[in-house]
Amino acid sequence: EHIANQIAAGEVVERPSSVVKELVENAIDAGARRIDVTVEEGGLSLIRITDNGSGIEPEDCETAFYRHATSKLSLGRDLFQIRTLGFRGEALPSIAAVSKVELVSSNGDHGLGRRIIIEGGSLKENEDTPTPLGTDISVKELFYNTPARLKYMKTIQTELGHISDVMYRQALAHPEIAFTLRHNGNQLLQSPGNGDLLQVIASIYGTQAAKGMLGIEAENADYKVEGFVGRPDLTRSNRGAISTMVNGRYIRNPGLQAAMMRAYHTLLPINRYPIAVLQLHMHPSLVDVNVHPSKLEVRFSKEQELYAFLEESIRAVLSQQVL
Ligand code: ADP
Ligand code: MG
Repeated sequence: EHIANQIAAGEVVERPSSVVKELVENAIDAGARRIDVTVEEGGLSLIRITDNGSGIEPEDCETAFYRHATSKLSLGRDLFQIRTLGFRGEALPSIAAVSKVELVSSNGDHGLGRRIIIEGGSLKENEDTPTPLGTDISVKELFYNTPARLKYMKTIQTELGHISDVMYRQALAHPEIAFTLRHNGNQLLQSPGNGDLLQVIASIYGTQAAKGMLGIEAENADYKVEGFVGRPDLTRSNRGAISTMVNGRYIRNPGLQAAMMRAYHTLLPINRYPIAVLQLHMHPSLVDVNVHPSKLEVRFSKEQELYAFLEESIRAVLSQQVL
């Protein structure tokens, strides 16, 4: 069991940002409206996530750390719901196998909850404790018992960069949830959680950038796109940032980015890339997430149509502006 968990950990827990990703997803799945993330030393010494979601029943707290003990997989047919296929019920056991985890959670019954401590996969404490509704989980000394893995970690700044990326994506995909991210005492993200995507953009890229965004909203029989794209004349960045969500989930798809850049093609100064946040909506049968469930990669069944739709929609918005 220990060995299996450590092997699984190698797949699920690549680096601190993988821990943040899994734990934040759990908080989102639990219906949290506030998710606060504190990390220290690029997440290697501490990752702490507090949420006000539905919490875990006291009797279930320990079993949540056993492999495949839980499964959200009795859900419907939307393929997005099986994105964690192969990893399901493995995140907590995998994380606990390679770190020191403290979990405090309550599902709200009489303010009573449970506190669990697991180190390197071994249960150290399991006791009742008064605690408010929600979950507070701390992951300390990641990879302390797998020195080979620890050696692979890059600088604190690099690891923190990956963690920020994870947090930005989730904040953009969920404007209705208030996220914070702190690192070594500095606040790096505070999204308002009021459903306003432009305010989330401002909290990530700055108010200036948010002011230079154009709203987009278009639809045809198959697809709908909403969101914001940067005004070409105000685009200063040579890095840019294009975020794409499909049916509420952050995904990566180079074809979408390419389609978008074609719309910008003649409008952008050389080596300049826009900020864009695009929410795409389509029938689940038009998107296949089985390509790489863990890597957020998808395949569209009518991709040329989708790319053409996106390019056209963006071109329309840009040409209205840039007259
Ligand atoms: P999975 O998310 O694939 O079910 P995990 O190992 O990530 O597996 O989590 C195990 C279980 O622990 C979840 O199914 C859920 O019931 C519970 N859980 C974990 N984190 C939270 C949380 N923040 N709030 C409520 N329940 C949680
Ligand atoms: Mg999970």
